[in-house]
Amino acid sequence: MRIILIGPPGAGKGTQAAAISEKYAVAHISTGDILRENVRSGTKLGLEAKKFMDAGSLVADSLIIDMMRGRLGEADAKSGFMLDGFPRTVAQAEALSSLLDEMSLRLDAVILLEIADEAVVGRLCSRRVCSSCGAIYNTVARPPKADGVCDECGGAVIQRDDDKESVIRRRLEVYHAETAPLVDYYEKTGILRRIDASGPRDAALKCLEGLMA
Ligand code: ADP
Ligand code: ZN
Repeated sequence: MRIILIGPPGAGKGTQAAAISEKYAVAHISTGDILRENVRSGTKLGLEAKKFMDAGSLVADSLIIDMMRGRLGEADAKSGFMLDGFPRTVAQAEALSSLLDEMSLRLDAVILLEIADEAVVGRLCSRRVCSSCGAIYNTVARPPKADGVCDECGGAVIQRDDDKESVIRRRLEVYHAETAPLVDYYEKTGILRRIDASGPRDAALKCLEGLMA
């Protein structure tokens, strides 16, 4: 199974993706997670990407496309993948399409998570993440059992630098300008599915179960 999740920041792509990759055993490939890992380990890509990420802007298409060409070639992606945070521009979608053609693969579905901007701001201001395993928490709806400690791995639960309100608003602007055009792009291919991201945490999984049945 090969699927793409699209949605504004805070739509819950990471949470929905985790439910799907558990059920279908496909590689969960999050460009945001890969970039943050590169920032942490201080790679050339990480150093280059950090300033854009901190500002809530997009990292250059060419860097992202090279990174994803490598990632999609890895062994665990052979049996299928779920892309979370990629493609994010029409140029990236076109590059992905050529890449899949080269590998003689096709996409099964593109799932669009829809949610209002104001709901996103509320969610992201209270979002916290585990700095080691990436588990997602919320100070209101889903706090870790022990303050600041990940339930899954014991790692430190922190606020992402880009989950500050001014940066959140900038990320939303970037989403509407750069990523929303992908909706039209994939609508034309006939594989776009829309789900209400303000609903249950496993809505995307349910949508896929319906598709695969
Ligand atoms: P969110 O969807 O919550 O904004 P992500 O974790 O997906 O966050 O991405 C964090 C940041 O990483 C983005 O704001 C952007 O700077 C960068 N990024 C992630 N994926 C891409 C991409 N496909 N193209 C360009 N930049 C990206
Ligand atoms: Zn953890």
